Amino acid sequence: MDVGLQGRRALVCAASKGLGLACATALAREGVAVTITGRNVATLEAAARSIHERSGMAVTVAPGDIATPEGRSAALAACPEPDILVNNAGGPPPGDFRDWQREDWIKALDANMLTPIELIKAVVDGMIARRFGRIVNITSSAVKSPIPTLGLSNGARSGLTGFLGGLARQVAPHNVTINNLLPGPFLTDRLRDNSAAAARKKGRPVEEEMAERTRAVPAGRFGDPAEFGDACVFLCASSSGFIVGQNLLLDGGSFNASFG
Ligand code: NAP
Repeated sequence: MDVGLQGRRALVCAASKGLGLACATALAREGVAVTITGRNVATLEAAARSIHERSGMAVTVAPGDIATPEGRSAALAACPEPDILVNNAGGPPPGDFRDWQREDWIKALDANMLTPIELIKAVVDGMIARRFGRIVNITSSAVKSPIPTLGLSNGARSGLTGFLGGLARQVAPHNVTINNLLPGPFLTDRLRDNSAAAARKKGRPVEEEMAERTRAVPAGRFGDPAEFGDACVFLCASSSGFIVGQNLLLDGGSFNASFG
């Protein structure tokens, strides 16, 4: 399938590791000039080298915290007119809602709801004027199936999803699409760290914890970030302009439902 993305420009946020990196790598492989962001400069530069080695494409880096105005300005200065925007940031910490103060909620809303909205606001009119835009938001399977300990994530990401459901229909006439990718368990550093923390709490080896989590997935394994990157490319394809406001769950069948 020719996805028709040669020569396009993409801003991929929080892309020095994990799912963001997988999206940037897959887009670069299709001839997209990518700009990637991340807070740790050394990790970000290593990611840029890895993408370049795999794709031959030039990669621009924009170091900074994407959840801050400064981080967003740096990202937009490095890639002012993206054809593709992939919104991503770290997820909020787990916990009990009784312990969360207003600042905890504001932090989660900033990172996982307001940052993507700010970035969309900055780039969407340019996309409309050029009559091409693909906006992909990395959210979570928790939007469909809330995870009790991740209330901050459930709340902030559901707010984003509700807002984007409306906006997606407003920009669709201009060949600008907004869709969301909902990861279930993908084998990234985040999943490894979460599993290690859970294993410590239960006093058992991390391998045991991960094996149990794997057994809970109908596919019998964790997702490979490269598969996630390919789904991102599909949503960004030139022929995907009729896919509007969708929430694509990639969870190996974990969400048990006859209809999505
Ligand atoms: P990961 O492996 O920990 O990678 C996170 C990436 O984002 C790193 O490159 C990190 O680099 C960057 N980052 C984090 N916060 C940032 C910020 N504020 N500004 C700029 N860059 C930032 O995580 P992942 O597994 O790919 O997860 C990506 C997103 O998907 C998260 O929101 C996560 O909650 C969600 N998710 C993941 C899974 C899963 O199974 N992996 C499942 C459901 C949802 P620096 O630390 O250097 O900034």
